[in-house]
Amino acid sequence: MATILVTGGAGFLGSHLCDRLIERGDQVICLDNFFTGRKTNIAHLIGHPRFELIRHDIVEPILLEVDQIYNLACPASPKAYQYNPIKTIKTSTVGMVNVLGLAKRCRARILQASTSEVYGDPNVHPQREDYWGHVNPIGPRSCYDEGKRVAETLCMNYHLENKVDVRIIRIFNTYGPRMDPNDGRVISNFIMQALRGDPLTVFGDGRQTRSFCYCDDLIAGMMKMMDQDHEIGPVNIGNPDEFTMLELAQEVLSQIESKSTLKFEPLPGDDPKQRCPDITKAKRILGWTPQFKLKDGLVKTIAYYRGVVEAEQTQS
Ligand code: NAD
Ligand code: UDP
Repeated sequence: MATILVTGGAGFLGSHLCDRLIERGDQVICLDNFFTGRKTNIAHLIGHPRFELIRHDIVEPILLEVDQIYNLACPASPKAYQYNPIKTIKTSTVGMVNVLGLAKRCRARILQASTSEVYGDPNVHPQREDYWGHVNPIGPRSCYDEGKRVAETLCMNYHLENKVDVRIIRIFNTYGPRMDPNDGRVISNFIMQALRGDPLTVFGDGRQTRSFCYCDDLIAGMMKMMDQDHEIGPVNIGNPDEFTMLELAQEVLSQIESKSTLKFEPLPGDDPKQRCPDITKAKRILGWTPQFKLKDGLVKTIAYYRGVVEAEQTQS
């Protein structure tokens, strides 16, 4: 039985990963500082004989004995990572050094959850792994984007200098149940607004694009990357179906049968105009392709947020 550390394990993606690893029969250590993670995401695992929870911040070193590390610790939504930008960059740099140091000492394989944000506001479309990106180093997104770029650099150098067994995936926008309803990301915002009958806040003219991957697909790709022996990455993991924010808003409104209107608000600084993964490498190396169409993933996600809204109404 492998002992697997999931940093950021109480977050949206981390908690789904913990579920899959427990189902597979692994011993799971979930480590989180609960900045954006929530105990409710992992409450059902507390008391499981193969599950352990540690409140810890990766900016501080930690001594553990593990076989594999999934490093997901880092706030992911612009609202959360811009709340304390210096802490965000410390998590991706000092924290990354600490987690790589742990991997080195334990001879554990480590997978880094990198991001499509390393491509910035891309001028190559769709984005392939050999594109170096177009990132503003001093803009409002830089604490996250540049932090994640340094984290990739650290992974490569620990691999080259110290033979640490690294894996790097670049995750494109991923959504699903357990995404914090208040984290300001577009899918959680639109669904919560439509369920409450509030206007949907469209930033800019809504013609910017994103490609949305359902969480179950993402976790399957992430585990395949960890469990193969040949490719260290980076490998893009995302769904290549591309939508404008206006198209997304229409799909959410039609599924919820909501009469909410659209409210146009200013586009935040450095907001990427388009984003879509080229997943040729993931298909070839991992034999992975996403299974969920956006409309099917939205059905499951809307059901989750309906539960959240109903619970709110019962409490008030
Ligand atoms: P999330 O905010 O729900 O989860 C991040 C978790 O990390 C939270 O539980 C948070 O409390 C924890 N954390 C943050 N800083 C920490 C620290 N210093 N020490 C310990 N724990 C810390 O976000 P998510 O969507 O689940 O994202 C998980 C990972 O995947 C992140 O690294 C993110 O950058 C990456 N990613 C996510 C997406 C996406 O669309 N969801 C896209 C690209 C990359
Ligand atoms: N967005 C929007 N309305 C919202 C939240 C976000 O129109 O209420 C836009 C945002 O400007 C961006 C896209 O939706 O163009 C995706 O935003 P998100 O924060 O989900 O992810 P990211 O920008 O990091 O890809």
